[in-house]
Amino acid sequence: MTFAIHGLPVARGVAIGRAVLVASSRLDVAHTFIRPDQVDSEIARLSAAREAVTEELQRLMATLPKDAPGELAGVLEVHLLLLQDPTIRADVRRWVTERLYNAEWALTSQLEVLGRQFDQMEDDYLRERKADVEQVVERVLRHLKGAALPVVAAAAAPRVPRQHDLALEDTLDVPLVLVAHDLSPADMLQFKQSVYAGFVTDVGGKTSHTAIVARSMDIPAVVGARSASQLVRQDDWVIIDGDAGVMIVDPSPIILAEYGFKQRQGELERGRLARLKNTPAVTLDGVKIELLANIEEPADTVAALAAGAVGVGLFRSEFLFMGRHGKLPDEEEQYAAYRAAVEGMHGLPVTIRTVDVGADKPLDDSRHDAAHLNPALGRRAIRWCLAEPAMFLTQLRAILRAAAHGKVMILIPMLAHVSEIRQTLELVDKAREQLDQRGAVHGPVQLGAMIEVPAAALSVRLFLRYFDYLSIGTNDLIQYTLAIDRADESVADLYDQLHPAVLHLVADTIAEGARQAKPVAVCGEMAGDPGMTRLLLGLGLRSFSMHPSQILQVKQEVLRADVGKLTEWAQAVLASDEPGALLEV
Ligand code: PEP
Ligand code: MG
Repeated sequence: MTFAIHGLPVARGVAIGRAVLVASSRLDVAHTFIRPDQVDSEIARLSAAREAVTEELQRLMATLPKDAPGELAGVLEVHLLLLQDPTIRADVRRWVTERLYNAEWALTSQLEVLGRQFDQMEDDYLRERKADVEQVVERVLRHLKGAALPVVAAAAAPRVPRQHDLALEDTLDVPLVLVAHDLSPADMLQFKQSVYAGFVTDVGGKTSHTAIVARSMDIPAVVGARSASQLVRQDDWVIIDGDAGVMIVDPSPIILAEYGFKQRQGELERGRLARLKNTPAVTLDGVKIELLANIEEPADTVAALAAGAVGVGLFRSEFLFMGRHGKLPDEEEQYAAYRAAVEGMHGLPVTIRTVDVGADKPLDDSRHDAAHLNPALGRRAIRWCLAEPAMFLTQLRAILRAAAHGKVMILIPMLAHVSEIRQTLELVDKAREQLDQRGAVHGPVQLGAMIEVPAAALSVRLFLRYFDYLSIGTNDLIQYTLAIDRADESVADLYDQLHPAVLHLVADTIAEGARQAKPVAVCGEMAGDPGMTRLLLGLGLRSFSMHPSQILQVKQEVLRADVGKLTEWAQAVLASDEPGALLEV
C-alpha cells in the first residue's frame, strides 16, 4: 500500500530505489557491493566468522565459573542457537547471493529485519530477545572485521540486476536509499563516496549539519521525517522527493511514472544550468558578484571548480577533526589537507574556517555527552579553541604554512566578545612566531570573523576594527536570534530566515561593511537559496558562498537581476512586518 511520510526538504531532486535501513550504531560497518565471482568467498567469510563465534561461545560456556549466575549459561545457549538457526543463516546468505552485499552489510540488513519482527512480538520475554540477536551479530561483525574485506570499492559498484514487481523491470541497477533514525555529520561524510542515491532521517532540522553535508553531496535528502525508520521496512521501494521533503513508500506504478518524469525533468534542468559554468556572474546592470564554494574536505575543490566557483568561501575544517576517537589531526596532517585544498583551487582564494566543533558537530559520537544541556550555547567553535590553545595553535600554524602555497584567508567562527577577538589575534601572532622560530615557511593571510551571534551582528563596527573581512553565518545567526535549535525538527517551522530581526542584522552587517569598504560575504545556507538571491543583492551583498551544487542556480538569479531596481524593493522588504509576503510576488 502506498503511503507518504513528510519531513523537511534538504537537498533537491528525486531518488527512486530500495530502502536500506541502518541503525546509526552500525554505520561504521562497510557497505560495499561484491562481484558475482566473490559470492562464494564472501559466504565463506560469513561461515568462518560464525564458526569462530561458535567456538568462542562454547569456550565461554565451558569456562564459566561455578558461582556464575544461572541465566548466563542460558543466554550463551540462546546465542549459540541463534548462530545455528538455519532460517537466519539462509536469509543472511540471500543478501549476499541475490543482492551482492558484502558480508557485514548482509548481516546488518538481516538484523534490521529481525529487529522489526522482535519489536512486534506481544510476549515481553520474546521481545527482549532482540538484544540477544544484536549481541550475536556484534560478535560476528567483530570477527569479520579481522578478516579481509572484499576488494570491490563502493564507488565502483557493479550494476546489479534485481527482481521486483514494480514498473522498473527493465532497469539494470536499482539505486539504494539510506533510511536512518539519525546520522551524525561525520557519518554523512563517510557516506559521501557511497552507493546511496538518497537519504532520509527521522530527526534533524533543515540547517542541521547532517542536512548541510547531505546538501553538499547533491543527492535528494529529507530530514525530520519523524518515524520514517519505523514505518519503512528493509528493502521497501521508496521515492524521495527532496524538493517537497516527502518520502513515498511502496509507490504505485502511476506514482512511479510521475516521479520518473520529474526525475528526468530535473536532469534536463541541470544540463541546462551546466552551460552557465563559465559565464561571469554579473547582473543585468553590470554589477560583478562573487560566487564561492563551501567545502568540507579538500576533495570537494573538484566540485567547486566544476561548478565555476571563483574561490572557497568556507572550508569547514572541523570535518578533519571528527570521528577520530580522541586522536586529533597533528600539524602535518592538517597542513597537508589545507595545502591540498589551496592547490586544488589553482590560485583561487581559499577561506579556511578554524575548527567549529560542538553543538550538533561532536568530535566523536562517544564523546557527545548529554550532560551539556544546551550544547549550541556551550563550549563550541572559538570557545573550544581558546580553551584548548595548544590545539588551536597547531591548526593556525598548519593554515599559515598552507598560505605559502596560495591565497588563504582565515575565518573565525562564533565570536561575540572583544576579549575573544584579542585572544584569537594574539594566538595568530604567536603561531607565526613559532613558525619563525623554527624557520618554517609560511604565507600572508587575511583574517575574517563570522557574524553568527546576534551580539556580533550588533557590534559590527567593533569587529571591523580588528578584521579584514566578515562572513555572515546565517545558519547560526537565525538559530541564536530566534532561539531555535537548528537541529531540532520539532521547532523547524519557527526557523525563519525572513524574520525581520534576522533580515535587519544581515542588512546592517552588509551596510556597515560597505561603509568601511571591507568585504562582507554570506556563507550560511541563505546564500545558496535562489529564492533569497534578489533580496541579498538588493541589500548590497556582493559575495555569496554556498555548496557547489547550488552555484549555478544562484548564478542564474544573478544574471537575471538588476541591482539598481532591487535596492528600493529590498528596503521595503526590510520595513515589512511580513517580509515573506513581499518576496513571493
Ligand atoms: C553558519 O552558521 O551559517 C555557518 C556557515 O556555519 P555552520 O553552518 O558550519 O555552523
Ligand atoms: Mg555556524
